[in-house]
Amino acid sequence: MIHFVGAGPGAADLITIRGAEYLKQADCIIYAGSLVNPELLDYAKAGCEIYNSAKMTLEEVIEVMKNNEADDKMTVRLHTGDMCLYGAIREQMDILDTYDIEYDYIPGVSSFSGAASALCAEYTLPGVSQSVVITRQAGRTPVPSRESISSFAQHGATMVIFLSSGLMDKVQEELIAGGYDPETPAAIVYKATWPDEKKVSCTVGTIAETGRKENISNLALILVGNFLGDNYERSKLYHPGFTTAFREGDGTADGE
Ligand code: SAH
Repeated sequence: MIHFVGAGPGAADLITIRGAEYLKQADCIIYAGSLVNPELLDYAKAGCEIYNSAKMTLEEVIEVMKNNEADDKMTVRLHTGDMCLYGAIREQMDILDTYDIEYDYIPGVSSFSGAASALCAEYTLPGVSQSVVITRQAGRTPVPSRESISSFAQHGATMVIFLSSGLMDKVQEELIAGGYDPETPAAIVYKATWPDEKKVSCTVGTIAETGRKENISNLALILVGNFLGDNYERSKLYHPGFTTAFREGDGTADGE
């Protein structure tokens, strides 16, 4: 059987317990070497075969999986963060289906959670933003035009921009074209939760300059929005005046 496992954002102890257990049992691990912390391979048992998929094509990955199945070996396919985002797993699962090879999916902590933890930030602040747009700048991989960064920017919602640290000039230009005030707070988080994590605060208008100054051109997330500012409303959930299924409030905040 093949286990697709989310490795988490970087720190080796941010994998799930289930994911770590599978890593310990695996006869073969195929890991996304460009992004997964190699420390995670320390979980592997002696004799476990290890492949770095950064150097492989989809066809080669599938070939290894097929051979392992034929030999009754257990394979872990280790992807960075959680592979529901930019994980290229659907194409693997669809091919495995055609061979009737069984697989399951163990989620991981995505880097967008890792970046929030690096900043001790909350993306959804009451009175500021209740939505998070996860997207990327179009580059060698196209993005449908209806999903351009400038079109999302019109909402003024929190934005987490993946796979774009080499395209910061364009990101900044699109954010402003879409309506973000250049003074809106922003941050760049490089290698969130890794030992060499770096986080820098800036504004929408200084994203590109900040990225250049800090020498960040890969493995980073660009975070945008007033959730990085100082103003927000307190939550209703914990307000003394708000009644919930679990707690009787004094009524002063009900109905709002
Ligand atoms: N599935 C992964 C994303 C894979 S796409 C996840 O859930 O995080 C690869 C992109 O993710 C990188 O270009 C970068 O934008 C982002 N990324 C992955 N790990 C990161 C980390 N530790 N810190 C900051 N960005 C990261």
